[in-house]
Amino acid sequence: MPVPHVVVLGGGFGGLSAANTIRDALPPGRVRITLVDRREWFMVGFAKLWIIRGTRTFEESAAPLENLAGRGIDFVKAEIERIDPSSRRVETSAGPLRYDYLVVALGARLSPERVPGLAEHGLNLYDHGHLESIRARLLSMESGRIAVAITGMPYKCPPAPYEAALLIDSLLREGGRRDHIDIDVYGPAPMTLPAAGPEVSGRVLEMLRAENIRFHGSCKVVSVGPAGLEFEEGGAAFDLLVAIPPHTLPPVVSELAGGDPFIGIDRMGRTRFRNVFAVGDITTLPAGKAPVPKAGVFAEGEGAVVAGCIVADITGGSGPDPFDGRGGCFIESGREMASIIEVDAFAPATKLSDPTRSNLEAKLQFERDRLAGWLDHRIRA
Ligand SMILES: Cc1cc2nc3c(=O)[nH]c(=O)nc-3n(C[C@H](O)[C@H](O)[C@H](O)COP(=O)(O)OP(=O)(O)OC[C@H]3O[C@@H](n4cnc5c(N)ncnc54)[C@H](O)[C@@H]3O)c2cc1C
Repeated sequence: MPVPHVVVLGGGFGGLSAANTIRDALPPGRVRITLVDRREWFMVGFAKLWIIRGTRTFEESAAPLENLAGRGIDFVKAEIERIDPSSRRVETSAGPLRYDYLVVALGARLSPERVPGLAEHGLNLYDHGHLESIRARLLSMESGRIAVAITGMPYKCPPAPYEAALLIDSLLREGGRRDHIDIDVYGPAPMTLPAAGPEVSGRVLEMLRAENIRFHGSCKVVSVGPAGLEFEEGGAAFDLLVAIPPHTLPPVVSELAGGDPFIGIDRMGRTRFRNVFAVGDITTLPAGKAPVPKAGVFAEGEGAVVAGCIVADITGGSGPDPFDGRGGCFIESGREMASIIEVDAFAPATKLSDPTRSNLEAKLQFERDRLAGWLDHRIRA
């Protein structure tokens, strides 16, 4: 009997979780797994903030996807160009791939071009190619105004812009320049974390206020000039803009999404196409008040459920429980501390713990566990 072929598109949280969970359950003789990504490395999203802060370099944070070979997973570095569910084929820049099961984990596309002037006048907090520039600008700034602006919803890791502001505060304080530099965060929603509700949002606001960082809600950015943000109502001046750009659907999956903003899935990660699953930031999974947030922990959890579905289909065994929508994200608050925000998306409920040093250690351990567990990689930092 031919060995079934699972093709995983994307080597981020969702794709690595799915590929590794399948491999942990079944040996190469029972299933062939191929993972495709245009990059040859994986890095946890929050390491980007450490690169800006200066406690990490990119080289220290990136783990090679070629290490997947040691786990019996083929890695193909290629651009995914077309997905054809009717012929079970994926076209890539390295040639076509036929699949029996497809896992689409391509993440959300960062689209600064959606806001006129943003690409020209702002630096992108979520683009690893901008991190050194952000750091260099922060180190050379003596006075002025820093704007951290969320320019579209939904965006990945909803607390990350606030963490960025708090870590920028720490960096400037260390350099003795904080008193001469304002930090303002602008967001389109009226509160800091609308999906988490007013109580948790209020506590995040307190964390910001404690460090003299101002939050401005209901600021919908319509355009960016060389030194100013223009909102639907009013505007704000800046000397340095650190932006979270709008997140959009990668065009290669537009057929799978059928006109929706992201690919709709159910709690088993199924799409409307047979044997085509999707996980992570590229999806919309309706939950309690809002869809499951875009964050690595949820992509990872969905990847494990999808893996369970595929393994059950191959072996004839029983399938996994539906994705539970639970996950914890860290909010680093500067001063070498972090809080944990616990989300139960289907309840829905969100809890925020107090900042502690041990939470920051747990954040470092979270990264170590993923890089070692998925890619047999040890961080040399
Ligand atoms: C600053 C920051 C802090 C964060 N902090 C946290 C946190 O504390 N906790 C948390 O849970 N999450 C956090 N996140 C969010 C987390 O990183 C994302 O939600 C997570 O990476 C989503 O995983 P994914 O698998 O859906 O997509 P991704 O990790 O984005 O992976 C998608 C992969 O697909 C590849 N790809 C896309 N299109 C193509 C194509 N056409 N051809 C080939 N390859 C392609 C990309 O190269 C990429 O490797 C943070 C993110 C940022 C930016």
